[in-house]
Amino acid sequence: MGDKNLCLFNIQKFCLHDGPGIRTTVFFKGCPLTCKWCSNPESQKMGIQPDREEAMAGKMYSLKQVVDICLEDKDFYLESGGGVTFSGGEVLSQPKQAKELLIQLKEHQIHTTLETSGFVKPSVFKDVIAFADLLLFDLKHYDEEKHK
Ligand code: SF4
Repeated sequence: MGDKNLCLFNIQKFCLHDGPGIRTTVFFKGCPLTCKWCSNPESQKMGIQPDREEAMAGKMYSLKQVVDICLEDKDFYLESGGGVTFSGGEVLSQPKQAKELLIQLKEHQIHTTLETSGFVKPSVFKDVIAFADLLLFDLKHYDEEKHK
């Protein structure tokens, strides 16, 4: 099954608002920001933690497990022009895993979308996004002081 080295918050199927067509959205856990309006504060901390309902938020996966789950809906992607979207949390907080997943999904001809706030080293940003078909860049604010 391979090493479980990818920490996810959720995997959601039949998403219609995370890129073109019908998509599976893979929610990475861990984020370097702490936005006050964050709708998923349980996604901010890296690693498994208690959530608001006292259940556990987060689960470790192997890359193969995630690819296999995504491939279950390949027919829907092909029919609708969809694919797989990486969201979070911050996808680029687990850059090696994100890059490898993008490569493996591409080997299966799956369209990939990467959603990010871009809050990561420029070298990491460039290295990973090069393997995604579509980038959804979530610019929080263009003024550093107002952003803070
Ligand atoms: S960047 Fe997104 S996931 Fe991270 S704290 Fe802000 S809203 Fe939450």
